[in-house]
Amino acid sequence: RACFRRHLSGSSRGTQGSMSAWVIDEYGTNAVLRYAEDVPAPAVSSPTDVLVQVCATSLNPLDLSMRGGYGVRRDPLSLLGGSSEFPLVLGRDVSGVVVDCGVEVTHFGPGDEVWAAVPPWKQGSLAEFVSLSEYEVSHKPQSLSHIEAASIPYVANTALSALVNAGGLSLCFCVCSRVLITGASGGVGTFSIQVSLLKAWGAHVTVTCSHNAEGLVRGLGADEVVDYTAGDAEQRLETMDRFDVILDNVGGETEQWALTLLKSWSGSKYVTLVTPLLSSTDHMGMLSGGIQAGCSLNNKALGVFYRWGFYAPDGPALDDIRTLVDSGKILPVVEAHFPFSQVPQAFLKLEQGHARGKTVVRVT
Ligand code: NDP
Repeated sequence: RACFRRHLSGSSRGTQGSMSAWVIDEYGTNAVLRYAEDVPAPAVSSPTDVLVQVCATSLNPLDLSMRGGYGVRRDPLSLLGGSSEFPLVLGRDVSGVVVDCGVEVTHFGPGDEVWAAVPPWKQGSLAEFVSLSEYEVSHKPQSLSHIEAASIPYVANTALSALVNAGGLSLCFCVCSRVLITGASGGVGTFSIQVSLLKAWGAHVTVTCSHNAEGLVRGLGADEVVDYTAGDAEQRLETMDRFDVILDNVGGETEQWALTLLKSWSGSKYVTLVTPLLSSTDHMGMLSGGIQAGCSLNNKALGVFYRWGFYAPDGPALDDIRTLVDSGKILPVVEAHFPFSQVPQAFLKLEQGHARGKTVVRVT
């Protein structure tokens, strides 16, 4: 609880103090990131709110996209209000300490160490404080530092939503399943290898990544590793037994050849995280963009299911992950961490690509 140093100065339930945060006032490049000490701090405004002092956060490709204006219509309710979202605080992950709770919050109290993934339609965690609903929050694994814990929630909620909700995997439907994960060396990939591999789930996991990530992904338990930079990745994958589930973290041309790697007419599923939905609705509006994106779901391949995977806020899912983390079955993969004063440098690191796990920011 080292970072539980102070409460919001002068704040009380339902009133606003100020806090330090990195904000953007317009969409753009790294130049739009601004450090400010007078950002309105969130407060408990509903009976189920949990106010968290942020100790660490991590960056995701979504932060780069949101900085550039992607997903302006990510919150359908904002269409009704039409108000500006600026100053916008980015950052989706949080590991921190509860400082205040709404009257109906039953599972958390001030001083509890928690972790969570902040939904994209809420103000983010590159700030001293963030407000979440009780359902989005989970007690942090005791075995992890805040820096380690901050590397997991967003990719965990995404991977579980994609593999379980869209991919149909579970304790009952994973035994002996053959799973292919593309882009396995990044944030979602390094988490997905571990969750798909859990002995309780019993999956056999093949991954694609570049040659210099092979040690990392094998260390996390990948059974077969295919170097996509070697030039013969498609041919190598075609010689293997067909897959039950493919989790595509890469998108683009990958799905043109990877769809054929699934078992036909046996309920196999292709789940891609790289969907056209938000970019289509950004460019074409909610209705036309939704229809245009939805049409792209059709006619992908005969005999297999093609699905979009999405991040979904889910505190109870993080409770399950905590148990696995504390028993050593899931490891955090922190590639780099930066102090709060160096958030622009952290964004530059993310922008360079070639992630090997997560980039974390220490906040307090
Ligand atoms: P990262 O940037 O952390 O990881 C991407 C990884 O893919 C890197 O390790 C990169 O390393 C590797 N890679 C790049 N090109 C290829 C390729 N052709 N074949 C195999 N590996 C490749 O991203 P995340 O893991 O956080 O996210 C993955 C994707 O999922 C992103 O596009 C992200 O926007 C999306 N996403 C979507 C969500 C949703 O709700 N729909 C939620 C979360 C993520 P290298 O270049 O060195 O090979």
